[in-house]
Amino acid sequence: MVVNNPRLINLLSEEQKADLASMEKQFAHHLEYTIGKNRYNLKNEDIYKALGHTIRDFLIDRLNFTQERYREQNPKKVFYFSLEFLMGRTLMNALINLGLYETIQEMLRGIGFDLTDVLEFETDAGLGNGGLGRLAACFLDSMATLNVPGFGYGIRYDYGIFNQIIANGSQLEMPDHWDADGVPYEVVRSDISFSVGFFGHTETRVSGKGKIQHDWVPDETVLASAHDYPIPGFNTSTVNYLRLWAAKSSEEFNLDYFNHGDYMKAVQDKSISENISKVLYPNDTTEQGKVLRLKQQYFMVCASLQDILIQFREFKYNLKDLPDFIAIQLNDTHPSIGIAELMRIFLDNEEMDWEPAWEIVTKVFSYTNHTVLPEALESWRVELFEKLLPRHLEIIYEINYRFLTEVRNKGILTESEIQQVSIIEEGNEKRVRMANLAVIGSYRVNGVAALHSDLIQKTIFHAFTKVFPEKFNNKTNGITPRRWLLQSNPNLANLISKKIGNEFTTDLYRLKDLEKFVDDADFQNDWKQVKFTAKNELARIIKSETGITIDPSSLIDVQIKRFHEYKRQLLNILRVIALYRRIKENPNAEVTPRTVVFGGKAAPGYYMAKLIIKLINNVAWVVNRDKDVAERLKVVFIPNYRVSLAEKIIPGSNLSEQISTAGTEASGTSNMKFMLNGALTIGTLDGANVEILEEVGAENIYIFGLHTEEVFRMKEAGYNPTNFIHQNEDLHRILLMIRENFFSMGEPGVFSPIYDSLFYTDNYLLMADFTSYDETQNRVAQDFRDETTWTKKSILNVARSGKFSSDRTIREYAKEIWKVPLLDTIPPQTIYKLPQN
Ligand SMILES: *Cc1c(COP(=O)(O)O)cnc(C)c1O
Repeated sequence: MVVNNPRLINLLSEEQKADLASMEKQFAHHLEYTIGKNRYNLKNEDIYKALGHTIRDFLIDRLNFTQERYREQNPKKVFYFSLEFLMGRTLMNALINLGLYETIQEMLRGIGFDLTDVLEFETDAGLGNGGLGRLAACFLDSMATLNVPGFGYGIRYDYGIFNQIIANGSQLEMPDHWDADGVPYEVVRSDISFSVGFFGHTETRVSGKGKIQHDWVPDETVLASAHDYPIPGFNTSTVNYLRLWAAKSSEEFNLDYFNHGDYMKAVQDKSISENISKVLYPNDTTEQGKVLRLKQQYFMVCASLQDILIQFREFKYNLKDLPDFIAIQLNDTHPSIGIAELMRIFLDNEEMDWEPAWEIVTKVFSYTNHTVLPEALESWRVELFEKLLPRHLEIIYEINYRFLTEVRNKGILTESEIQQVSIIEEGNEKRVRMANLAVIGSYRVNGVAALHSDLIQKTIFHAFTKVFPEKFNNKTNGITPRRWLLQSNPNLANLISKKIGNEFTTDLYRLKDLEKFVDDADFQNDWKQVKFTAKNELARIIKSETGITIDPSSLIDVQIKRFHEYKRQLLNILRVIALYRRIKENPNAEVTPRTVVFGGKAAPGYYMAKLIIKLINNVAWVVNRDKDVAERLKVVFIPNYRVSLAEKIIPGSNLSEQISTAGTEASGTSNMKFMLNGALTIGTLDGANVEILEEVGAENIYIFGLHTEEVFRMKEAGYNPTNFIHQNEDLHRILLMIRENFFSMGEPGVFSPIYDSLFYTDNYLLMADFTSYDETQNRVAQDFRDETTWTKKSILNVARSGKFSSDRTIREYAKEIWKVPLLDTIPPQTIYKLPQN
């Protein structure tokens, strides 16, 4: 990857360039005194670390500058609460955003190192599962770039999303000790820590004013200690931060045991408290209800709210003004206990009355919903909740009582609707429904794509829309073009900037200007060349990661995302099997050579998803060894899908698989990454695919399958997959191949759960959509043969992807929900400064 366009990447002024000598000095200083090396025996690893510390100095300068600016101007701030931030790597993003990429590349070349190799040393910060955590990361980049005073708050897990290895076709999970080699950009704020209580009981007293007050007396206390990650904006001096809390045992707690002479117990308990931030829960879209998870949620929220209130109080404002200075966005329900916690602070610590406290709380929080799947909606057993957070449960009961009384009095809901909106789910096991708490306690509630936002209002939140019509709105997701174009695909970014200039980097709609060149043969050729170079690079990576040789000129057809039945990787591999059979039966047929690439992790306890991974690997094993289909079909599963791998795979793709059952994928964001990199989409009318179709036009996308309403109707009428299986002879045969162990000779019967689920239940309607998918894939194969037409469609996909910048999304949140300002950009040169040793 060579960034060779100074206009795009290198934003250094002349004075800065003059100061390069002192940057080299700084780098040499870190190499010698931070890393402890001399100039001999230097490895990429040492260069990476020294460079990390050099860049950290830059980041801290700007971070302090930005904090100073916020202190002076005191604008309203937004705090993005998320249990997940899927950041990936930091160094290259920082170099690009600071405008230092070229400079550093030159500097390293001077000492005989290649920046691209050095960057490979960085381990991904994988503190998230998938789309939800990656969205949070893209939002941080956009907030800093748009000069929004916005900060991320989350947990500093010791272990991020597990590393996936494939053995005998199956997924194995290995621990991801991501910080083992140190994290150079991290700023450990030992001076910022808060105690967080758990368990215990509540007490009642009469206050000085003669009011009945409640107090929570926890019997476990843990410290949350702040670790900051500077977030640089692109081409601006703004550097915000992501603050992640790590659990530390609290001294008061340990002293108890020391006093009783039980030294070993004290030390043991120390490590038990620190378990809170030990590991990210690897579940994507299924809820597990484990107590450690609720502890993590409360831990993060409790520390963050203390931190935010301390910052607010520096200005000596009245708490009733809080909503004028602070907005908190809840990334899904995971941090929604914050609503009850802020009430507890106001009622118990501040001794406020209920009504004014509730008035403030419901203006501060807003909630983003990420799913309509019922198994993903978080709820906690009341019994468990009461043990861990007894005072919060009392407050939730009171919120619920007041809310239900109000809606009953207004008479707008039926008795069955009142049950639906209750925070407490009745039954033999009472549960606390976090989504209901989030809706009732929030100022605004949004879905993440137009279709999804409509759907939540028609289904899970329908009764709520009658009570709070003004709360519901849509904020279609986006991705940051800095990481997903400038960083991942510099050749394409440079080709684009040669044609239309650089403004698209912060105003992605400017890509529209490419449309004028769509028929320009030279431009088409350059475009094809850039894509072909990326495909060659992907072929090289596939070879090194899997040992499989692919044809870089084949149609590279990619499905990379978490494994889940609703995402239907199974539909994709079934169609691969169909194609394989066709080639075998008709060896002389003209077939468009195709490489089908998969990547993604399955939750460790998700049996069916793991079995689908195994089926894909076994099909790959059979197909890739079969001489009859060689040159025409290859199947590749690239292990350990993660952000840094996505950055390498997406630029080399021709076809983006977005094939979820209509009505199940909230938005999707990989669909946007592919579009921005010139891949065409094959997809259902689901999530943001609907808006991609609107933007790009029906001629430039391959849409197939049932629509959401058809899915609902079919399920209501009593869906029977066998009707579809018997209508399609091909489909029937490939299911029989699976049942007859064609792909499991050594382990007969392993795939029968897949066969059975398709034949008897098929919850995600694969059988109903198979024929339409297959025919559409045939059309894709035909169209790919006409290179010029395909290239034009590729150009138009990029030209019309402007809407899907997370800058657009953040502007909408800032204006319509948070009411926070976009401050002026201060060009980075103005504060350019190198620390002096
Ligand atoms: C973008 C991204 C996702 C989200 O992918 P979808 O296809 O939208 O589910 C998940 N994981 C990683 C590593 C990503 O970069």
